[in-house]
Amino acid sequence: MRAQSSFSEIRQQLDAGKISCGQIVDHYLKNIREKNGKLNALLSVYDQEAKEQAHLIDQKIKSGSAGKLAGLVVTIKDVLCYKDHPLQCGSKILDGFQSQFTATAVQRLLDADAIIIGRNNCDEFAMGSSNENSAFSPVVNADGHNRVPGGSSGGSAVAVQADMCAVSLGTDTGGSVRQPASFCGIVGLKPTYSRISRHGLAAYASTFDCIGIFSNNVKDSALVLEVISGEDEYDSTVSQKEVPAYSEHLEAGKRYKIGYLKETIDNEALNSEVKAAFARQIDELRAQGHQVQEISFPLMEYTLPTYYILTTAEASSNLSRYDGVRYGHRTTEAGNLEEMYKKSRSEGFGEEVIKRILLGTAVLSASYHDAYYIKAQKARRMIQNELNELLERFDFIIMPTAPTTAFELGSKTENSMEMYLADLFTVQASVAGVPAISIPMGRDRQGMSIGLQILSKAFEEQKLLAFSNYLLDN
Ligand code: GLN
Repeated sequence: MRAQSSFSEIRQQLDAGKISCGQIVDHYLKNIREKNGKLNALLSVYDQEAKEQAHLIDQKIKSGSAGKLAGLVVTIKDVLCYKDHPLQCGSKILDGFQSQFTATAVQRLLDADAIIIGRNNCDEFAMGSSNENSAFSPVVNADGHNRVPGGSSGGSAVAVQADMCAVSLGTDTGGSVRQPASFCGIVGLKPTYSRISRHGLAAYASTFDCIGIFSNNVKDSALVLEVISGEDEYDSTVSQKEVPAYSEHLEAGKRYKIGYLKETIDNEALNSEVKAAFARQIDELRAQGHQVQEISFPLMEYTLPTYYILTTAEASSNLSRYDGVRYGHRTTEAGNLEEMYKKSRSEGFGEEVIKRILLGTAVLSASYHDAYYIKAQKARRMIQNELNELLERFDFIIMPTAPTTAFELGSKTENSMEMYLADLFTVQASVAGVPAISIPMGRDRQGMSIGLQILSKAFEEQKLLAFSNYLLDN
C-alpha cells in the first residue's frame, strides 16, 4: 500500500479482495507505534476498537453492504466529541473528561464505515500556530525534528504527514488547518463557514470556527467533505444548502482568472524562498494559459487585528463554561465559591488561553466595547465586502498559505506578535467566511514544505477542489 494512494484506489483493492481493512489498520498501527513517541501527534490510540471495526467492515465489504468510506482510517482533533472517548481540547482543565455524545461530523464518518484510530494533539482550545500551547507537550514536524508542525491542528496534520492515518479532521478558526497543512506538505481544506455542522465541536470563536480536513490528496478531502457536510438538526447555524458530490466532479480543464494580492507578496514578513516559490507558481499558471493578475487589498493590514479582537471576545464568552463545577478540573484549595472558580480556571488553563480570555473580556467590557469590539465587527464587514467583490471578478485568489515555512520549536514562544504573524495570510478567508485550501507548492532549501493557498467564493468548494486537484496533478 502506498502512503500517497488515494482512497478510491485503496477501495478498489479492498473491493477486489486484494487487501483487507484489517491489514490497513495494522499498517497504521505499526507506523503509530514506531513514530508517535517522537512526534506526539496522537494523544489516544484506539487500537483494539480499530481492529474490531476493521473486522466488521471487512465482512460488510464481502457482503456488499459497506459504506462510502469503508477502509478509510481517520484521526480526529482533540476538540471533537466522540462518545465515551476522552476529550480534553489539549487542556488540563478537562482532565478526565469523556464525551457524552458524538460530533455530527464524526458520526457521519462512522456511519459511512470510516475507522477512527485516534485522537490528535492540538494547541489548547485550538489557540495557537505551532502546537506548542498543548498541555500534552508540542507535536513535532515529521520533516524536521526541531520544527513545529504548525497549529492549532498540528497533531492532525502530522498524523497524515507521517502516515499514521489516511485522513484527519482538524478545525480552522483562523488558519489552523491550512497553516499546519502548509508546514507539513499535505492538503488542508477549510470549507465555507457553516458548510459542516459544528455539533460536538468544543467552541473557540463561534462566528469563525469550521471543521476542516487534512489529506494527502484533494480527492480524499472532496470525498470526506461530501460525507460530513450538510444540514443537521443539532446545529441551527449549519447551511441548508444541498451538498454536491464533490469527489465525482474533480475535472477542471477550464482557463481561470486568478488574482494575487500585492499586499501579500510585498509583505515584509514574507520569507524570500516562499516568495520565490510563489513567483514560480504564478509563472506556471500563466504558462498553462490561466490569466493571472496582481490586485490590491488595502484592508489587508486590518485583517489580523480584526481577527484577534473578535476571536478573543468570543473565546472569553465560550470558555466561561469551564468553571470547575460542571466538568473537568476543580481546585482542591478553595475556601469559598468565588475562589473555587478563580483557582480552578487559573490552574486548569494554560498561559495563552488565559491571555486571550483576559483580552477578550477587556474588549467586551463597557469601557472598550465600542472602541474595539464594535469597531472590529465593522472592519469585518468591510473586509468581507471587499473580498467578496474581488471574488466576483476572479475565479480564485491565491497567496502563500503562510509567510514562512515551519519554524524551529521554541523560536517564537516568547513573542506573541511574531507567533500571530504566522496567521497573517490565513485569517482573511476566516474573517470573510469563504472557503480556502492549502496545497503543497515545493520545498525550501532545508527541505521544509511551502504551501499555496487558494480562496474561492462562498460555497464554491466544487470549483476550488477541482482546481486544486488539477494543480497537484500538473
Ligand atoms: N493560530 C490562530 C489562533 O491562534 C488560528 C487558530 C485556529 O484556527 N484555531 O487563533
